[in-house]
Amino acid sequence: MKFFELGLDEPGLRADLDAGYRRVMDRGWAILGPELEAFEAEFAAYCGADHAVGVGNGLDALVLALRAAGVAPGAEVIVPAHTFVATWLAVEAVGATVVPVEVDAEPYVLTAPSIAAAITQRTAAVIPVSLYGHPVDMDPILDLAARHGFFVLEDAAQSHGALSHGRRTGGLAHATAFSFYPTKNLGAVGDAGAVTTSDADLAEKIRMLRNYGSRRKYVHETAGVNSRLDELQAAFLRARLARLDEANDRRRERAARYTAQLQGANAVRTPTEAAWARHVYHLYVVRTPEREALQARLTAQGIETLIHYPTACHLQPAFAHLGYGPGAFPIAEQLAAEVLSLPLWPGMPLDDVDRVAAAILT
Ligand SMILES: *Cc1c(COP(=O)(O)O)cnc(C)c1O
Repeated sequence: MKFFELGLDEPGLRADLDAGYRRVMDRGWAILGPELEAFEAEFAAYCGADHAVGVGNGLDALVLALRAAGVAPGAEVIVPAHTFVATWLAVEAVGATVVPVEVDAEPYVLTAPSIAAAITQRTAAVIPVSLYGHPVDMDPILDLAARHGFFVLEDAAQSHGALSHGRRTGGLAHATAFSFYPTKNLGAVGDAGAVTTSDADLAEKIRMLRNYGSRRKYVHETAGVNSRLDELQAAFLRARLARLDEANDRRRERAARYTAQLQGANAVRTPTEAAWARHVYHLYVVRTPEREALQARLTAQGIETLIHYPTACHLQPAFAHLGYGPGAFPIAEQLAAEVLSLPLWPGMPLDDVDRVAAAILT
């Protein structure tokens, strides 16, 4: 059993993807055109933000949002100790200093009290990550930001469509970075990303940065980059956005089925959903101290699982210069040792969920 399938062959979706492909081919326009404009408008509206700016990928979405907010060398940026490495890489990319903070014991996201303890005079930004599809409780973080004057950039690369107190990610923080990597809840058929924000000035800066620092052809106001979401991916994303809520419902149905079967069994600890949250299960992540044995047992039965992520960021060679050794972030290190992601995608047969759960329980 595969861990994940893109599901591009689903009949209705496939017809819409094909129609999007034909629109782009018939128009003969490849980059920065009407498909992107339409997708940006549709995605901003979906998120409850005034603006969406399409960029090349999720990492660039984070980097360009930080740059547009003026985060530069000398500044500190608070990030979760437990996240995908891209969150940290974005801070390095703008030359700022990574300040890791432990996530909550459950769900695995940053909370205002732990952020508060890490704030200094140099804190320029905080990047809460709605990891695995579980949103962040944003208002207390925004309150801290208002008091201390820092920028809040949500990394929602794993939580398209998730709700926090009834509001969608993408409309909660000062700005939100999304990835549309093919396996994400909203996935393209290649690399793509976006930043959403209701700050018109910030959106304008990101638009400029993604296109060589230029607003008008051959006038370069700042040293920008080339990071654009192309027309073909925008057309594909429009087809998928129309089905995002349904796809997330299907993820939730499968997650609930796993939890119903696995809960209470002492084999694994199942993921939780805060009362104020709507989790969109980008990943269904269980925990067990016997992780390697469980993974080997499932592999032997033909069930593919993955680990998100096996090494805490502070122990990656890329971050050795920060000087954190083993033991610096015990929660992150324990998660890295215990988490296991079970197969889950919107079209996964319910029987397969039952098969995986049975394999874990025997
Ligand atoms: C996928 C992901 C990213 C990076 O997105 P790319 O499009 O792969 O660059 C950033 N943060 C998190 C939490 C992610 O899961």
